[in-house]
Amino acid sequence: MDWAELLSQLRQWLLVRRQVVGERIYSEPNSPAPAAFSGELAAARPPSSAVAPTEPDAELPLPVLQPPRFQMPELGGEDLFSTAPPWRQSRSLEELYEHIHTCTACPLGLTRTNFVFGVGNPHADIVVVGEAPGAEEDARGEPFVGAAGQLLNRMLQAIGFRREDVYICNILKCRPPNNRRPLPQEIATCRPYLWKQLELIQPAFLLALGATAAVALLGKEAKISELRGRPIPLQGMVMVVTYHPAALLRNPQWKRPAWEDLQLLRRLYDAYRERLRA
Ligand code: URA
Repeated sequence: MDWAELLSQLRQWLLVRRQVVGERIYSEPNSPAPAAFSGELAAARPPSSAVAPTEPDAELPLPVLQPPRFQMPELGGEDLFSTAPPWRQSRSLEELYEHIHTCTACPLGLTRTNFVFGVGNPHADIVVVGEAPGAEEDARGEPFVGAAGQLLNRMLQAIGFRREDVYICNILKCRPPNNRRPLPQEIATCRPYLWKQLELIQPAFLLALGATAAVALLGKEAKISELRGRPIPLQGMVMVVTYHPAALLRNPQWKRPAWEDLQLLRRLYDAYRERLRA
């Protein structure tokens, strides 16, 4: 076979592959990852043992069944003599947005194009938390709309959720220059806005994308390998941690464990809904 023929076959294969991307598929636990998100590597490999198969009623840590769950902590510096900032009293996401979208509490407020607040169902059972807006998110004012966002949509679809079923936001609301990692000070400044979002939404589950998001939510250092693959109870909610979709685009061999994390989230969600009905 000459190069031209090889190239044409490759092009054809890519076309076929593109056609299957975007299908909504929810498979049974430990089934092969759907083509929409698996990549060849994940489909080819046997499931790893990171997440043991779980019977529907096996003991899973579930969220507190009814809100209130998460309540944001007191911020330092508030006492009898100083009043809480007005955004703390917000009663809806819209009101919170109105209070904070002009924020310049850290220097990122001066370089952003748009404040990327969050998007999705304000009563979602699941809040997806990423790291910080990238270039496209900064330009459009919406989280996860670039290449990583497309993959995130497919990851959600693979476990039976649409983007609009969940709520999607980031630890930082403003883009760090050149997509660098958020600085600890930026996280400390911006995280209370996320806490307030969680307090208003009262989700049962958090899906943390990447170690930066998970560590910021947990409030303590840990590696992704220590965090993913298991449910983490967190203030009345349950957090599942997986790889950031941008990392999955660079490292397709991580799609298999990510698929297992997503299946874990789906099992937890189903067990929670079941318990609610009981
Ligand atoms: N990466 C993130 O962590 N968040 C986005 O919104 C986009 C890319």
